[in-house]
Amino acid sequence: MIREIEHSRYVMGNLAYGSDLLNSLTYTCEKENISLGRLEVIGAVQKARIGYYLQDKKIYKSFELNEPMEITSLIGNISIKDGKPFVHVHINLANAEDNVLGGHLMEGTIVFAAEFIIQAFEGPEFIREFDDHTKLALWK
Ligand code: ZN
Repeated sequence: MIREIEHSRYVMGNLAYGSDLLNSLTYTCEKENISLGRLEVIGAVQKARIGYYLQDKKIYKSFELNEPMEITSLIGNISIKDGKPFVHVHINLANAEDNVLGGHLMEGTIVFAAEFIIQAFEGPEFIREFDDHTKLALWK
């Protein structure tokens, strides 16, 4: 499935110290009326929770990373799920030993400092629906 996007605008800002990274990004999209787009973040977290999808079991395994880390990369997209803006984000994090870990961003990742850029698209709706092969909510 491929659709062309013709118009976009940018929203840029930072997230509050101590806030939940995923929830804050979702809230920002709701507040700015963004239901289609892409985003990136750099900054640091106080701790993190990331996921890995077990393709055979069709469930997310989650990892708690209880240490301060740099957000070396965060990319994501925004579409519609259950009638609301849904933010899908993957993150890479570096710890004090410069080990880098990454995965699917989950609730429980706490902001130390986070600067975001969201590119909001005006275009056709992208709606997530249950996919039988993966058991994930994918674009239809
Ligand atoms: Zn993911």
